[in-house]
Amino acid sequence: LTTADLIEDHRICVCVRTRPLNKKELTMKDLDVITIPSKDVVMVHEPKQKVDLTRYLENQTFRFDYAFDDTSTNEMVYRFTARPLVETIFERGMATCFAYGQTGSGKTHTMGGDFSGKNQDCSKGIYALTARDVFLMLKKPNYKKLDLQVFDLLNRKAKLRVLEDGKQQVQVVGLQEREVKCTEDVLKLIEMGNSCRTSGQTSANAHSSRSHAVFQIILRRRGKMHGKFSLIDLAGNERGADTSSADRQTRLEGAEINKSLLALKECIRALGRNKPHTPFRASKLTQVLRDSFIGENSRTCMIATISPGMASCENTLNTLRYANRVKEF
Ligand code: ADP
Ligand code: MG
Repeated sequence: LTTADLIEDHRICVCVRTRPLNKKELTMKDLDVITIPSKDVVMVHEPKQKVDLTRYLENQTFRFDYAFDDTSTNEMVYRFTARPLVETIFERGMATCFAYGQTGSGKTHTMGGDFSGKNQDCSKGIYALTARDVFLMLKKPNYKKLDLQVFDLLNRKAKLRVLEDGKQQVQVVGLQEREVKCTEDVLKLIEMGNSCRTSGQTSANAHSSRSHAVFQIILRRRGKMHGKFSLIDLAGNERGADTSSADRQTRLEGAEINKSLLALKECIRALGRNKPHTPFRASKLTQVLRDSFIGENSRTCMIATISPGMASCENTLNTLRYANRVKEF
């Protein structure tokens, strides 16, 4: 397949990625209930029990644009997801790539990369790989005049305010914008952003799983926007526990996350349909992404990440159903 084949008439691409069982799951003797029988099919083998207590596996099959098994690398996932969208922003388009899934399923590993040293391959994530290819494209003669800027939003300690001006342009107040010259500059910013997202928390995942991280690469030509790539590491989608939490703040955050993930789904679905009423205002996340959902040349890719363990079955099925709804229109 060439890149051109991949992007042809493909405004919304929905993929799924599973990962190997981790140490904790192996210690708990959790079983891998996921199989990827072909490059676009994922099967969940859910353990069930009949009334007479005999056990059986209920097999559920989902089809997506791509299904990446637990041997897939970030580079491979990138090639079929964000890579085709790099062309889009150089052609005055808007591109969006999300990682969606339960906490611990591999969203940050996929988007931000894995520099923890826990994994043997300290692999770059989609942020860095995208930045790399954007810089490569910028070397081409036609694109030399483009400036590159990077944004990192919604994950700083200070609350950002999202405002809409008279021309329905969304402004994020308090946003930091940096000019970058090379991939290393971008990697430093990613590291800084990620440490802001997790610092001061007892568990790194506790905080990051409760915030959306939005990383945007914007191309400008003579000050005017030429194209924009939004890369998003979404908050964990397992919110059921939060909404019944005794802590008010936790409950409110849980409700906000639910609301934004629902709005996101509706906005992506509208992208494929030219629906007149798109609920951008329903959440800050969708307000920030508004212009990416309305443009003529807008493309979106969603990577649904799943945890393979039997213990995660319910969350996994919820993730796959959400992804299915995004895909259907
Ligand atoms: P999330 O951001 O969805 O909460 P993480 O990306 O932090 O999840 O992943 C949880 C753990 O699983 C991390 O220790 C990460 O290194 C590991 N992990 C995630 N995806 C993979 C993968 N594809 N291969 C190997 N390890 C992975
Ligand atoms: Mg994470």
